[in-house]
Amino acid sequence: MVELKFLTHSTKFRCRRCTRCCSLDVMLSDQEIGRLGAAVDRRWRTTRKSSRNGRMVCSLLDGDCCTIYDKRPILCRVFPFIAIPESEFAEAGIGVDPDAVKITRAGTEAYLIIYDSDCPGIGEGDPTDPGAIQELTIRHLREMSHRIDRR
Ligand code: SF4
Ligand code: SF4
Repeated sequence: MVELKFLTHSTKFRCRRCTRCCSLDVMLSDQEIGRLGAAVDRRWRTTRKSSRNGRMVCSLLDGDCCTIYDKRPILCRVFPFIAIPESEFAEAGIGVDPDAVKITRAGTEAYLIIYDSDCPGIGEGDPTDPGAIQELTIRHLREMSHRIDRR
């Protein structure tokens, strides 16, 4: 069973630019697909990959730099974090860390944030801003819902 890691007030993070997450398949929204053009693998709704030293990496990575850094997809911005509505944990029967930060904001349900503990940047740097992660995640979900609603 996978043990989920929840963001708490003491969770620190600083990206070490290891590029590990640039091998993952980030789910792109319609806007991102339109904007990234030929760099998109439309079948899987993610960025195209190419082989580098035996691993597949995003074709938009040059050395250890993202060539579209200022305009990178939302899920690249929030990694290693993602915000999830609190109700989904209850529905799935998943226990929540009692120290998990709960984000409650007018107009949205309560959210909790989980993270990929294999990211080398976890535990370094400054405490993470949960509000910013929630905002970006909701924006991504809205863009994805927009795509689903139109079908
Ligand atoms: S895996 Fe973590 S530390 Fe490495 S580039 Fe991605 S976010 Fe930064
Ligand atoms: S778009 Fe940039 S940050 Fe996102 S996976 Fe590709 S190279 Fe990495």
